[in-house]
Amino acid sequence: MNIQELVRDIPDFPKPGIIFKDITPLLANSEALVHCADRLAGLCPTDIKIDKVIGIEARGFILGGMIAQRLGAGFIPVRKKGKLPSKVNSKSYGLEYGEDILEIHMDAIKAGEHILIHDDVLATGGTAQAVCELVEELGGTVVQCNFIMELDFLNGREKLKTTVASLLSY
Ligand code: 5GP
Repeated sequence: MNIQELVRDIPDFPKPGIIFKDITPLLANSEALVHCADRLAGLCPTDIKIDKVIGIEARGFILGGMIAQRLGAGFIPVRKKGKLPSKVNSKSYGLEYGEDILEIHMDAIKAGEHILIHDDVLATGGTAQAVCELVEELGGTVVQCNFIMELDFLNGREKLKTTVASLLSY
């Protein structure tokens, strides 16, 4: 199935000069959604039991939950500052366009758990790197970071110390 044709370029979003990869047509296609979840779950290492899948707010929640279901793992939301109700571990990070703070519940991960991180797009890698640090600070081990797509020219992979998998490269 050709999922690439379901990703559209939106010029000058969210700022002039940025071409935003919009995955909403892909999400709206039931076959493509199942296809992506099956393939991303299939790219996870099989020799390690994944305990929990992290989805990064907000587009990482959709396939993150579907991947967790396929792996028989739990799901953890990593959210923007101020959204999670209990005690959090916070990390500020640099974006392709700006700065932000991500948070995880302190009790979301038990020491020694194996964690898969999912997001829709790997750009500069700052977001995923911050989430890797949040996981490590709670004693978890990141087994893989996976994405629907990566923007190769921003070299996000180089920032991440863990295995990276994605379905599309630009
Ligand atoms: P990074 O931290 O790797 O530079 O940026 C990745 C984060 O920004 C992800 O959470 C992703 O959702 C968002 N992002 C950056 N560029 C794009 C894009 O072109 N399309 C989409 N859908 N998300 C993007």
